[in-house]
Amino acid sequence: MYLKKILRPPSTLALRLTLWYAGIFTISTLVAFGAFYLAISTVISKHRDLDLRGDVQEYSAMLVTKGIGEVKAEMSWDALSDGQEHTFLRLLSLDGKELAATDMSAWRSVRTDSQALEKLKGGADYVLETLDLPEQEFKARTVYGSIGPDLVLQIGESLEEDAEFLALHRTVFIPVMAAMVIVAAIIGWLMARRALIGVEEVTQTAIEISKGAMDKRVPFKARGDEIERLATTFNYMLDRINLLIKGMREMSDNIAHDLRSPLARIRGVAEMGLITSHTEEEHKAMAGSMVEECDRLLGMINAMLDIAEAESGTGENTLEEVDLVRVVQRACELFQAIAEENSLTIAADLPKNCLVYGEARKLQRMVANLLDNALKFTPPQGSVTVSLKADNGQITISVSDTGIGISEDDLPYVFKRFYRCDNSRAQQGTGLGLSLVKAIAGSLGGSVNASSHLGKGSTFTITLPQLPLSHQFQSSS
Ligand code: ADP
Repeated sequence: MYLKKILRPPSTLALRLTLWYAGIFTISTLVAFGAFYLAISTVISKHRDLDLRGDVQEYSAMLVTKGIGEVKAEMSWDALSDGQEHTFLRLLSLDGKELAATDMSAWRSVRTDSQALEKLKGGADYVLETLDLPEQEFKARTVYGSIGPDLVLQIGESLEEDAEFLALHRTVFIPVMAAMVIVAAIIGWLMARRALIGVEEVTQTAIEISKGAMDKRVPFKARGDEIERLATTFNYMLDRINLLIKGMREMSDNIAHDLRSPLARIRGVAEMGLITSHTEEEHKAMAGSMVEECDRLLGMINAMLDIAEAESGTGENTLEEVDLVRVVQRACELFQAIAEENSLTIAADLPKNCLVYGEARKLQRMVANLLDNALKFTPPQGSVTVSLKADNGQITISVSDTGIGISEDDLPYVFKRFYRCDNSRAQQGTGLGLSLVKAIAGSLGGSVNASSHLGKGSTFTITLPQLPLSHQFQSSS
């Protein structure tokens, strides 16, 4: 069971990252050392072979200049100076007969390789071999080379020095490597901890939020890394959620306050009908009033749902190129009859065309709501002007009237849900029209604002981002 616990992968990401880091570091260091070790051992053995061949050449030259006697004396001197247990030299005839040799007591099992002599006979300059002798602790390297007619020199050297040199590398490498792995693991651990501190902060914030601290946010450190992006996105998500919760709260408050009155009215009509009405005419009148109130209530509920949908950005977003000139013209046509009925005039100041990226239905509702208000709150003989402009990448739609106007005190609140100014209560309305205009403009990346002079008139201006010119060309061609 304990073994299982030990073998189970570590649970913290920092520890896992550290283990990966240390593991990769160890493997790459081992590979690098292996390659280095192979390279130096190759270089050492190449040098050894070159030395041996150089020695044979020197003896060959000496034989020519100084004769066989000097060669033998030099052989003994070389063996003595290198150490006879480390080096031996032999003179052989081509058929393998030993003609002279240094002290061979440390090299007793050295035999003459007839195949090597055959190769020399066949014209080879040197034959190199590695000897593994029982009396020698280390392997030895030997060279056979012709130094004269029917005269072969064999030199043998122990590889003890080379082996010790390589062994030194190995013994130095192991502790150095262990120290480096430990340092790398510590550095890796610190780096992983540092990198994951941000994640820890996000987790802590999430825990605090889950306990009810909805205003908590991940602290901003301006690191410019992925963790910061995670923190920013997390904070943004929390802001959005807060906004939605706030919207829902407002909505339920509104429902509680403002839908209660129409419901109470419906109930009142029904109650009155039960108590007072007796004839069929009276029943019909009562049912008519109730239908009217129900329609008003439905209108309010639908408007609230539309506002919520536009504000949250949910619902179908079938964005398309819409020519706002057409939208405004159509709205003016629709309201013309009402305007005439109330002795009002509608004037439109429109360009040839004006494309915007949006939803035709929503744009129509925005313009219609503003026109409806303008006509509703303008006394007879007044006028309403709709103008449309495209300038600096922005489109502005303004609806001005010469109506009752809005007081300075009321103006900041007219876009709030269910807000109705006192001077307009004589007119029918729900107080939701301007909230819907604001929500739709916002959902299309725009805004709406109002300016007004009490008793003189008001202007409502919607600002929307314009389509790029390239789109305009495409659609007009
Ligand atoms: P509604 O028109 O249904 O009352 P709105 O949200 O459209 O609701 O408007 C909110 C309030 O703003 C209106 O009740 C009115 O008091 C004021 N208002 C809006 N438009 C105008 C306008 N053109 N002139 C004067 N007052 C206006």
